Amino acid sequence: MSGPSGQSNVLVEHTAKSRWVAADWSTVPFGSVYSDHMLVAEFQDGRWGTPVIRPYGPLALPPSISALHYGLSVFEGLKAHRGPDGEIRLFRPRENARRLQRSAARFVMPQLPESLFLEGVNALIGVDERWVPAHGAGALYIRPVLFSVDPSIRVKSAERFLFVVFSCPFANYYPAALDVLVTRRYVRAFNGGTGDTKPAGNYAPTFLADEEARSWDCQTVLWLDGAEHRYLEECGAMNVFVVIGDTVVTPQLTGTLLPGVTRDSVITLLREMGYRVEERRVALDEVMAAHREELLRECFGTGTAATLSHVGRIRLDDRVLVLPPVETRTVGPAVRERLTPIMEGRASDPHGWLERVDPSRRLY
Ligand SMILES: *Cc1c(COP(=O)(O)O)cnc(C)c1O
Repeated sequence: MSGPSGQSNVLVEHTAKSRWVAADWSTVPFGSVYSDHMLVAEFQDGRWGTPVIRPYGPLALPPSISALHYGLSVFEGLKAHRGPDGEIRLFRPRENARRLQRSAARFVMPQLPESLFLEGVNALIGVDERWVPAHGAGALYIRPVLFSVDPSIRVKSAERFLFVVFSCPFANYYPAALDVLVTRRYVRAFNGGTGDTKPAGNYAPTFLADEEARSWDCQTVLWLDGAEHRYLEECGAMNVFVVIGDTVVTPQLTGTLLPGVTRDSVITLLREMGYRVEERRVALDEVMAAHREELLRECFGTGTAATLSHVGRIRLDDRVLVLPPVETRTVGPAVRERLTPIMEGRASDPHGWLERVDPSRRLY
């Protein structure tokens, strides 16, 4: 089921009093302060209604909605940066719009037209422009979520949905290197499951594994495949890369891992920079052998929030693989140095990854 495609009207109900303050976002924990407005669009009777931008705040919903009981909820995450010219640009938002459609299809949810996603996000950022940090200071993280509001606890697919988008500013940060635990007790995804989509239900089951990781002084889990527990899949909620000798290796998209926009961008840039990048299965045994031979140079995760996080140590049972110090690494830092300026609008954008936010395009 698809809604009207040329959706361009967004109604705006401005907040009576902005909560914006000239904050140093590096002192504000990520996800603790949200911008003034949110976008809400409702799907019912087989069609999408007019999206409304209104003050960020609680949604009144019955406790019987199936999003709460059966996990009918899928989400996205993307960023907007302010360029040196003051313009605001989104990084590859179409990829997020399309991925949301794929996630929705997996859960028998309606297709959200790409135009509604893109214009809704554009209009919302246009209204909350001041919340986009100054050039170089950080980014606006945008969280779209699509979930069922069917007030029925019957176990079945739903007919009524909300698409909600809100945002939060955050500072640029260089995440400290992560220590990761390899666990064979838990799996994140399995063949035929939902590992290649972004449903709410993929995340809650990882929290117990993260707790186990913390009990080993690690921050998160290095996930292995669900069938054999042999191959690397993801690093926490990020895609994973290893550098073995001069080759960069990342698990191929087999259907159990999330096709990250950052992953795709990093692969593209690394190849452009002359690195050999292999997308293939990578066994934990291979990583351990490379470490023994002192060929394991780097391991890092990629995702929208952090862009790139280095892995410092990999723990498995009572063994710990200590990787070379971050200061001596070349591949991860170089690709980050290449990608960040593109995202921030201070380098050329040969791949057309940026979409300028045009506040005048909002129609209301
Ligand atoms: C969102 C996500 C990623 C990263 O995807 P990006 O598009 O790069 O943000 C990787 N793994 C998982 C499990 C995710 O949920």
